[in-house]
Amino acid sequence: MITIALSKGRIFKETLPLLAAADIVPADDPENSRKLILDTNKSDIKLLIIRATDVPTYVQFGAADLGVAGKDVLMEHGGGGLYEPLDLKIAKCKLMTAGLVEPRPRISSRLRVATKFTNVARRYFESRGEQIELIKLYGSMELGPIVGLSDLIVDVVDTGNTLKANGLKPVDHIADISSRLVVNKAAMKMKYEQISAIIDQIGSAVS
Ligand code: AMP
Repeated sequence: MITIALSKGRIFKETLPLLAAADIVPADDPENSRKLILDTNKSDIKLLIIRATDVPTYVQFGAADLGVAGKDVLMEHGGGGLYEPLDLKIAKCKLMTAGLVEPRPRISSRLRVATKFTNVARRYFESRGEQIELIKLYGSMELGPIVGLSDLIVDVVDTGNTLKANGLKPVDHIADISSRLVVNKAAMKMKYEQISAIIDQIGSAVS
């Protein structure tokens, strides 16, 4: 049995043609189904439909053999227990710092940064030798600088329209982001033939 962890929405839609290249076709559409485990056309391949941020955790602990996750999510998770054999070149965006178009004086002596990517932000500002105060948020980070919660945010940016609509601008580029195929390290050894065939077929479809 091979299990593949995927999140609903954009990643699922953009991963479908890549799975099809490996002759894996889901039996249900997760947008219309409440099932968390989807059968496929192959009796020994199942899809787990989970939150995007949980994909690396399921794969790390071997609860899924393979998964598709954004590089932002993988950077935040840390990548322990995982191989990352393929850049799927889908769901591309950038991880950036952003602040007010018209910056105000600093809120406190240390730069305040609000984000859901606290590990990424800590590492990024440490690498620049900047002492920051981190504020963990779970969404709508753009509000932070507007209401005086933080000086900056760290978030994923695609067109930049969301920042612009909220009076923010991108400041520094942290990383280019795209979705990656991840594999549990032990599963890669135990199910080498089946998993490497899937990686090869998806890899050919990407390039
Ligand atoms: P945008 O206005 O195009 O810069 O994108 C707005 C929001 O869409 C961002 O704040 C993210 O929450 C989300 N977003 C855009 N692209 C991605 C992506 N590739 N992966 C995850 N979230 C994204």
